[in-house]
Amino acid sequence: MFRTAEEFFTSINMSAMPPEFWERSMLEKPQGREVVCHASAWDFHDGKDFRIKMCTRVNEEDLFTIHHEMGHVEYFIQYKDQPMAFREGANPGKNTRGWVAELNSIHKKPNLRLTCRG
Ligand SMILES: [Zn+2]
Repeated sequence: MFRTAEEFFTSINMSAMPPEFWERSMLEKPQGREVVCHASAWDFHDGKDFRIKMCTRVNEEDLFTIHHEMGHVEYFIQYKDQPMAFREGANPGKNTRGWVAELNSIHKKPNLRLTCRG
């Protein structure tokens, strides 16, 4: 599912996820320890360490969430060489709403609304 999302982003000329992403992200709920399962994307601000934390289930909602979270990582990658002050989205609406518009076009569900869950 994460590879599917990555293929979507590379198909529109965005970046592939770096090796560190695949090595360090938590993409499944670990056994035997409690974690916060709320999906989130992380920028460790060293220019290469970007991760998603998510207890992924195999269903359409989570596929959608993966695209959303990976969208955050795409932003982190685009902004990695910028000073911290410039790393927020160009305008606050662009970050989430831009991706939602993009994703809605894929899902062909124009009325589907997604709020940023992290
Ligand atoms: Zn989000």
